[in-house]
Amino acid sequence: MILLLEDDPAIAQTVVYALQREGLTVQHHAWLREARAAWARQSPQAAVLDIGLPDGSGLDWLRELRQGGSAVPVLLLSARGEEFDRVLGLELGADDYLCKPFGVRELVARVRALLRRAVVPAGGLVVERLEARLNGQRLPLTRRELALLQALHAAQGRTLSREQLLDQAWGQDAESTDRTVDTHVKTLRAKLRDAGLGDDCIRTQRGLGYSLER
Ligand code: CA
Repeated sequence: MILLLEDDPAIAQTVVYALQREGLTVQHHAWLREARAAWARQSPQAAVLDIGLPDGSGLDWLRELRQGGSAVPVLLLSARGEEFDRVLGLELGADDYLCKPFGVRELVARVRALLRRAVVPAGGLVVERLEARLNGQRLPLTRRELALLQALHAAQGRTLSREQLLDQAWGQDAESTDRTVDTHVKTLRAKLRDAGLGDDCIRTQRGLGYSLER
Protein backbone atom coordinates (compact mmCIF):
# COMPACT_ATOMS: atom_id res chain seq x y z
CA MET A 1 0.00 0.00 0.00
CA ILE A 2 1.21 3.48 -0.92
CA LEU A 3 0.23 6.31 1.39
CA LEU A 4 -0.40 9.62 -0.35
CA LEU A 5 -0.68 12.75 1.76
CA GLU A 6 -1.75 15.62 -0.46
CA ASP A 7 -4.31 18.34 0.21
CA ASP A 8 -4.71 19.49 -3.40
CA PRO A 9 -7.67 17.42 -4.68
CA ALA A 10 -6.72 17.68 -8.36
CA ILE A 11 -3.14 16.52 -7.79
CA ALA A 12 -4.30 13.79 -5.42
CA GLN A 13 -6.83 12.46 -7.91
CA THR A 14 -4.27 12.33 -10.73
CA VAL A 15 -1.69 10.57 -8.57
CA VAL A 16 -4.17 8.05 -7.13
CA TYR A 17 -5.43 7.21 -10.62
CA ALA A 18 -1.92 6.82 -12.05
CA LEU A 19 -0.69 4.59 -9.23
CA GLN A 20 -3.84 2.45 -9.26
CA ARG A 21 -3.44 1.94 -12.99
CA GLU A 22 -0.03 0.48 -12.15
CA GLY A 23 -1.78 -2.07 -9.97
CA LEU A 24 -0.75 -0.39 -6.71
CA THR A 25 -3.03 0.13 -3.74
CA VAL A 26 -3.17 3.78 -2.71
CA GLN A 27 -4.52 5.27 0.47
CA HIS A 28 -5.05 9.00 0.12
CA HIS A 29 -5.29 11.52 2.94
CA ALA A 30 -5.61 15.29 2.74
CA TRP A 31 -4.97 15.88 6.45
CA LEU A 32 -1.83 15.14 8.39
CA ARG A 33 -3.77 13.90 11.42
CA GLU A 34 -5.66 11.36 9.29
CA ALA A 35 -2.47 10.11 7.67
CA ARG A 36 -0.81 9.80 11.06
CA ALA A 37 -3.70 7.70 12.43
CA ALA A 38 -3.71 5.50 9.32
CA TRP A 39 0.06 4.93 9.56
CA ALA A 40 -0.29 3.85 13.18
CA ARG A 41 -2.75 1.16 12.08
CA GLN A 42 -0.74 -0.05 9.10
CA SER A 43 2.66 0.99 7.90
CA PRO A 44 2.71 1.63 4.12
CA GLN A 45 5.31 0.20 1.70
CA ALA A 46 6.15 3.73 0.57
CA ALA A 47 4.79 7.22 1.15
CA VAL A 48 4.36 10.32 -1.01
CA LEU A 49 4.15 13.38 1.23
CA ASP A 50 3.22 16.92 0.36
CA ILE A 51 5.03 19.46 2.51
CA GLY A 52 2.47 22.25 2.91
CA LEU A 53 -0.62 20.76 4.56
CA PRO A 54 -3.61 22.44 6.19
CA ASP A 55 -2.75 21.03 9.60
CA GLY A 56 1.02 20.85 9.56
CA SER A 57 4.17 20.18 7.59
CA GLY A 58 5.10 16.99 5.78
CA LEU A 59 8.72 17.75 6.68
CA ASP A 60 8.01 17.75 10.42
CA TRP A 61 6.13 14.48 10.10
CA LEU A 62 8.97 12.92 8.14
CA ARG A 63 11.34 13.92 10.94
CA GLU A 64 9.04 12.27 13.51
CA LEU A 65 8.75 9.10 11.46
CA ARG A 66 12.50 8.73 11.13
CA GLN A 67 13.08 9.49 14.79
CA GLY A 68 10.53 6.77 15.56
CA GLY A 69 12.65 4.29 13.61
CA SER A 70 10.51 3.99 10.47
CA ALA A 71 12.51 3.11 7.35
CA VAL A 72 9.58 3.35 4.93
CA PRO A 73 10.79 5.11 1.77
CA VAL A 74 9.39 8.62 1.37
CA LEU A 75 9.07 10.88 -1.64
CA LEU A 76 8.44 14.55 -0.82
CA LEU A 77 6.33 16.84 -2.96
CA SER A 78 6.99 20.54 -2.81
CA ALA A 79 4.72 23.23 -4.19
CA ARG A 80 5.72 25.61 -6.93
CA GLY A 81 7.22 28.76 -5.50
CA GLU A 82 7.53 27.13 -2.09
CA GLU A 83 11.02 27.42 -0.75
CA PHE A 84 12.18 23.86 -0.59
CA ASP A 85 15.44 23.04 1.01
CA ARG A 86 16.42 19.87 -0.79
CA VAL A 87 19.32 19.27 1.56
CA LEU A 88 17.08 19.60 4.61
CA GLY A 89 14.57 17.15 3.11
CA LEU A 90 17.26 14.59 2.42
CA GLU A 91 18.83 15.14 5.84
CA LEU A 92 15.48 14.48 7.44
CA GLY A 93 15.43 11.14 5.69
CA ALA A 94 13.51 11.66 2.44
CA ASP A 95 14.53 9.19 -0.24
CA ASP A 96 13.46 11.38 -3.14
CA TYR A 97 11.58 14.58 -3.92
CA LEU A 98 9.65 16.19 -6.76
CA CYS A 99 8.76 19.82 -7.33
CA LYS A 100 5.29 20.73 -8.55
CA PRO A 101 4.20 20.76 -11.25
CA PHE A 102 5.51 17.30 -12.06
CA GLY A 103 4.69 14.81 -14.77
CA VAL A 104 2.63 11.95 -13.45
CA ARG A 105 4.73 9.41 -15.34
CA GLU A 106 7.81 10.67 -13.59
CA LEU A 107 6.11 10.32 -10.23
CA VAL A 108 5.06 6.75 -11.02
CA ALA A 109 8.62 5.86 -12.08
CA ARG A 110 10.01 7.30 -8.86
CA VAL A 111 7.49 5.48 -6.70
CA ARG A 112 8.42 2.27 -8.49
CA ALA A 113 12.08 2.96 -7.71
CA LEU A 114 11.19 3.53 -4.04
CA LEU A 115 9.37 0.20 -3.91
CA ARG A 116 12.40 -1.61 -5.33
CA ARG A 117 14.43 -0.15 -2.50
CA ALA A 118 11.66 -0.77 0.04
CA VAL A 119 12.37 -4.43 0.68
CA VAL A 120 13.90 -4.38 4.14
CA PRO A 121 16.09 -7.19 5.41
CA ALA A 122 14.49 -9.67 7.77
CA GLY A 123 17.19 -8.48 10.19
CA GLY A 124 14.92 -5.53 11.02
CA LEU A 125 12.39 -8.02 12.32
CA VAL A 126 12.09 -8.32 16.08
CA VAL A 127 10.07 -11.27 17.35
CA GLU A 128 9.21 -11.33 21.03
CA ARG A 129 6.87 -13.33 23.20
CA LEU A 130 3.91 -10.97 22.94
CA GLU A 131 4.52 -9.15 19.68
CA ALA A 132 6.61 -8.84 16.53
CA ARG A 133 7.94 -5.55 15.22
CA LEU A 134 9.52 -4.50 11.97
CA ASN A 135 11.65 -1.37 12.19
CA GLY A 136 9.85 -0.34 15.33
CA GLN A 137 6.34 -0.89 13.93
CA ARG A 138 4.19 -3.50 15.62
CA LEU A 139 2.95 -6.09 13.12
CA PRO A 140 -0.83 -6.67 13.18
CA LEU A 141 -0.64 -10.44 13.67
CA THR A 142 -3.19 -12.81 15.13
CA ARG A 143 -2.11 -14.96 18.07
CA ARG A 144 -1.61 -17.95 15.76
CA GLU A 145 0.35 -16.01 13.15
CA LEU A 146 2.61 -14.71 15.89
CA ALA A 147 3.15 -18.24 17.20
CA LEU A 148 4.00 -19.39 13.70
CA LEU A 149 6.45 -16.53 13.20
CA GLN A 150 8.04 -17.24 16.59
CA ALA A 151 8.61 -20.89 15.62
CA LEU A 152 10.13 -19.95 12.25
CA HIS A 153 12.23 -17.20 13.79
CA ALA A 154 13.56 -19.49 16.52
CA ALA A 155 14.60 -22.00 13.85
CA GLN A 156 17.17 -19.42 12.62
CA GLY A 157 16.74 -20.13 8.93
CA ARG A 158 16.36 -23.89 9.22
CA THR A 159 13.38 -25.49 7.51
CA LEU A 160 10.54 -26.65 9.74
CA SER A 161 8.09 -29.28 8.54
CA ARG A 162 4.35 -28.67 8.75
CA GLU A 163 4.23 -31.22 11.57
CA GLN A 164 6.88 -29.33 13.53
CA LEU A 165 5.06 -26.05 12.97
CA LEU A 166 1.76 -27.59 14.07
CA ASP A 167 3.43 -28.91 17.14
CA GLN A 168 5.12 -25.64 18.04
CA ALA A 169 2.45 -23.12 17.08
CA TRP A 170 -0.75 -25.07 17.67
CA GLY A 171 0.21 -27.57 20.33
CA GLN A 172 -2.35 -30.24 21.05
CA ASP A 173 -5.08 -29.03 18.72
CA ALA A 174 -6.57 -32.03 16.97
CA GLU A 175 -8.58 -29.87 14.57
CA SER A 176 -5.48 -28.52 12.84
CA THR A 177 -3.98 -30.09 9.73
CA ASP A 178 -1.14 -29.37 7.31
CA ARG A 179 -3.63 -27.27 5.37
CA THR A 180 -4.11 -25.07 8.46
CA VAL A 181 -0.39 -24.35 8.46
CA ASP A 182 -0.45 -23.44 4.76
CA THR A 183 -3.38 -21.07 5.25
CA HIS A 184 -1.72 -19.28 8.15
CA VAL A 185 1.61 -19.05 6.34
CA LYS A 186 -0.24 -17.39 3.48
CA THR A 187 -1.81 -14.69 5.67
CA LEU A 188 1.41 -14.20 7.65
CA ARG A 189 3.38 -13.80 4.43
CA ALA A 190 0.90 -11.20 3.17
CA LYS A 191 1.20 -9.20 6.40
CA LEU A 192 5.00 -9.32 6.30
CA ARG A 193 4.90 -8.19 2.68
CA ASP A 194 2.55 -5.30 3.56
CA ALA A 195 5.00 -4.31 6.28
CA GLY A 196 7.79 -4.09 3.69
CA LEU A 197 9.52 -7.47 3.81
CA GLY A 198 10.15 -9.25 0.51
CA ASP A 199 7.63 -11.69 -0.96
CA ASP A 200 9.77 -14.70 -0.21
CA CYS A 201 10.74 -13.87 3.38
CA ILE A 202 8.96 -17.10 4.30
CA ARG A 203 10.30 -19.67 1.88
CA THR A 204 8.33 -22.69 0.81
CA GLN A 205 10.72 -25.65 0.81
CA ARG A 206 8.94 -28.01 -1.53
CA GLY A 207 8.00 -31.25 0.15
CA LEU A 208 9.76 -30.21 3.36
CA GLY A 209 8.05 -27.24 4.96
CA TYR A 210 8.88 -23.59 5.54
CA SER A 211 11.83 -21.47 6.55
CA LEU A 212 12.26 -17.81 7.43
CA GLU A 213 14.76 -15.93 5.29
CA ARG A 214 17.34 -14.21 7.47
CA1 CA B 1 -0.20 21.43 -0.17
